[in-house]
Amino acid sequence: MDSSDTTAGELARGEALFKSPCIFVKGVVSIDDLPKDGRPEIAFAGRSNVGKSSLINALTGRTSLARVSVTPGRTRELNFFTLGKDAELYLVDMPGYGYARVSKAAVKGWTRLIREYLRGRRELKRVFLLIDARHGLKPNDKETMTLLDEAAVSYQAVLTKADKPKKTELEETVAKVEAELGKRPAAYPQVLVTSARTGMGIPELRAAVASLAPNGVVP
Ligand code: GDP
Repeated sequence: MDSSDTTAGELARGEALFKSPCIFVKGVVSIDDLPKDGRPEIAFAGRSNVGKSSLINALTGRTSLARVSVTPGRTRELNFFTLGKDAELYLVDMPGYGYARVSKAAVKGWTRLIREYLRGRRELKRVFLLIDARHGLKPNDKETMTLLDEAAVSYQAVLTKADKPKKTELEETVAKVEAELGKRPAAYPQVLVTSARTGMGIPELRAAVASLAPNGVVP
């Protein structure tokens, strides 16, 4: 959580990476349509309304990148964006889970897509699991964590909307989430605390993404 954990070099690398082009490539609705070019993938997942679009837009410094891709009808796709001066990695905007206002069949369809993707994707280097700082971990967040633990996919928790709770409440939520992560084999132990609204934690999250980019291609 502490920004002092991230070095100036790491922050600069993150800033440079996110200044480079970020381009929407495609929305994937079926596992057969996943890109086949082998680029490393970094995915963003979370409950619907967690603030994922806002966070991706804050990271990339574009006001409408994620929203453009998440026009109605495309919300259940895995949206792939290339990032980097040589488009060396994919950011993957995953469909939000826990959205109630759709049919059970639709929920089943895209839950399966999410599960298949998270389970069997060699290119997937890390999942940033977004958690609303006002609500903390919900049962479906824990289900996702279990899925990622079982699939041995590395993941890191990111609190969103950290401008909302009071400082003491925020500290409590961070402590609770870290306690849960400590029990989980595939989880990165530290929580990143962010706000798309104030920019809190955004440089650190950029640095975390950059640390996963292929070596040597990012300044
Ligand atoms: P998504 O469904 O996960 O993509 O969530 P959105 O990015 O569309 O955000 C959902 C709601 O949360 C919107 O009303 C946003 O304005 C609000 N929101 C998103 N990020 C923040 C934040 O950092 N702080 C606050 N206070 N609200 C936020």
